[in-house]
Amino acid sequence: MTDRQTNKQTNKQTNQLTNQQTNQLYDLDFPTLQSLLTGWGEPAYRARQLWGWLYVRLADSFDRMTDLPKSLRERLAAETAIGVPEVVETLESADGETRKDLLRLADGETVEAVLMRYERRRTACISTQVGCPIGCVFCATGQAGFRRNLTSGEIVAQALHFARLLQTHGDRLSNVVLMGMGEPLLNYEATLAAIHRLVDPQGFNLGQRHVTLSTVGVVPGIRRLAGEGLQITLAVSLHAATDVLRDELVPLNRRYGLDALFVACYDYFARTGRRITFEWALIEGVNDTPEQAQALAARLTGFPALVNLIPLNPTGGYAGAPSSRKRITAFTAVLDRQHIPYTLRLRRGTDIQAGCGQLRQRTVFGPAV
Ligand code: SAH
Ligand code: SF4
Repeated sequence: MTDRQTNKQTNKQTNQLTNQQTNQLYDLDFPTLQSLLTGWGEPAYRARQLWGWLYVRLADSFDRMTDLPKSLRERLAAETAIGVPEVVETLESADGETRKDLLRLADGETVEAVLMRYERRRTACISTQVGCPIGCVFCATGQAGFRRNLTSGEIVAQALHFARLLQTHGDRLSNVVLMGMGEPLLNYEATLAAIHRLVDPQGFNLGQRHVTLSTVGVVPGIRRLAGEGLQITLAVSLHAATDVLRDELVPLNRRYGLDALFVACYDYFARTGRRITFEWALIEGVNDTPEQAQALAARLTGFPALVNLIPLNPTGGYAGAPSSRKRITAFTAVLDRQHIPYTLRLRRGTDIQAGCGQLRQRTVFGPAV
């Protein structure tokens, strides 16, 4: 990270603290909410009631919390906010399966979140940062630069936003993928707090195995995550199996090269027993060669992994193109021969630019701070 970026981040964090002073309730963990309410002289059980309104009934206003005394509802409304993001714009894909919402946060910054409805799954793809400091060359978020980290509540609220929407149709959110804007492991505490809140059995109660965290390969973050005792799925955005090529596509590789990354991945598997997913955006003539397939297979032989192949989604700032059918077939033939499990992800939501890496393209930044 350059000095300029570091300064920018520090400024943003100061601003975030100012926002938090209004007590956005989705930013609070249960003990903090409880001490807020007992500090107001409320009986201990009130916090559990309010928690239920926030995470089970998904109330978007204090008026709905009818079993709380009116005086408490009034105080909550005066001194706190639930933290429901404002929807600025909604785009639906032509097939109706994908919906992308541009959400405005308390300080005017915006993030994008996507709801995917395929068969029985209802998956929210949510952001962890406004922008991203990593700058992978093919990614729209990376091309636009970094603004600030999201708070835990801002991360949680994106998933709950879609859950609320589904609830009105008698439906439920089944999966959450941290694969929107930003690098979750560079916003570690807030991301972890958000995951804990989403999987809380007394709250939103999402199954841990229905949560996927996608990282570009922040090695210290992977190591730390391995020790959290969670059963979430880790996805690592690999895109290249040689350092020479990965250095070019994913700048962070110059800091954490493939050897260090794979040691951290083996360690993650050893400690959690969870098979790791490796993401690979297929770029015509760049990383779809038989040599790259071979190098990938060599890295993964004997390691319980799943490769997720995604033909590149075009972005304005990168000239690369998605691989042709023929080149994909040649690539997967190598994986087949080496018995490496993979999935080829269909391109979804591309007509609304909600495909991977396309978040941010149509987004207008919030006010400069
Ligand atoms: N920062 C994290 C999570 C957000 S990016 C990460 O990089 O993993 C989510 C996924 O979209 C990553 O796998 C990323 O490599 C992929 N992606 C980014 N730009 C893309 C593009 N133009 N086409 C296809 N996938 C892309
Ligand atoms: Fe950041 Fe992930 Fe995009 Fe890379 S792919 S720039 S890490 S959001």
